[in-house]
Amino acid sequence: MSNKSASSEPVAVITGASRGIGAAIARELARRGHRLALLSRDREKLREVVQEVAGESPAVETFSCDLQDPQQVEKTFEAILPWAGQIDVLVNNAGLGIFAPLHELSDTDWDSQLNTNLRGVFYCSRAVIPAMISQQSGTIINISSLAGKNAFAGGSAYCASKWGLQGLTYCMAEELRQHNIRVSIICPGSVHTEFSPHKGKDPAKMLQPEDVAKTVGWLLEQSPQSFVSEISLRPTQKP
Ligand code: NAP
Repeated sequence: MSNKSASSEPVAVITGASRGIGAAIARELARRGHRLALLSRDREKLREVVQEVAGESPAVETFSCDLQDPQQVEKTFEAILPWAGQIDVLVNNAGLGIFAPLHELSDTDWDSQLNTNLRGVFYCSRAVIPAMISQQSGTIINISSLAGKNAFAGGSAYCASKWGLQGLTYCMAEELRQHNIRVSIICPGSVHTEFSPHKGKDPAKMLQPEDVAKTVGWLLEQSPQSFVSEISLRPTQKP
């Protein structure tokens, strides 16, 4: 594990970094010279991502954290801040989807999606915003979904969480732009990860995790006066 002391390289915190889109974002931001704080519940899987990025990122640390638990999130950010010295980027990426008709969803199905996809973003953002306000800089990128804008059968809880994330993101953006902090939302279509089976879709035509990661990198390239608030990312051909 790479763990150099605090320096001037930008620091990115990425949730859900153990696999899929989050791991791809870690690789992209490592390539761009960010120090990385990688979060998920599975520290072993995070360590595999560290192996991939250690040669490029100036410093990487892993944090085991269940985003559904506000105390775990609070303690995690209490540990990240002294390690990092600053937080320049927060990517709220962790999420899950359980797809079934509403009347078949259990309380746990509902709670796990709302608590991870929406509350988790609230907890992590609340933890970093004071530091970003005192820096008078920062970028928060929320990974939503086209399911945050489009309804489909079997998507009630997932869509509710992502539509909620849409509102949360836009309100945060309005609160924080006066502090030179940009809050953006990326809404990808189906991405080829372990997230869901995507039955009947051709993986070769689906978006790849790297496509979302490159979009995160592109958002970070914007000039200081330019703020891209939302990106819808679609596969070129319908998968
Ligand atoms: P994935 O491969 O299933 O990865 C999900 C990540 O979220 C994992 O790193 C997982 O880590 C983490 N996570 C889940 N619950 C967590 C919790 N309670 N606490 C902490 N971490 C948790 O999914 P993905 O495709 O990369 O999805 C990433 C994001 O993109 C999600 O927000 C998803 O809604 C969104 N998205 C995905 C697609 C798609 O088709 N794949 C399309 C649009 C949007 P651990 O299990 O190690 O904790």
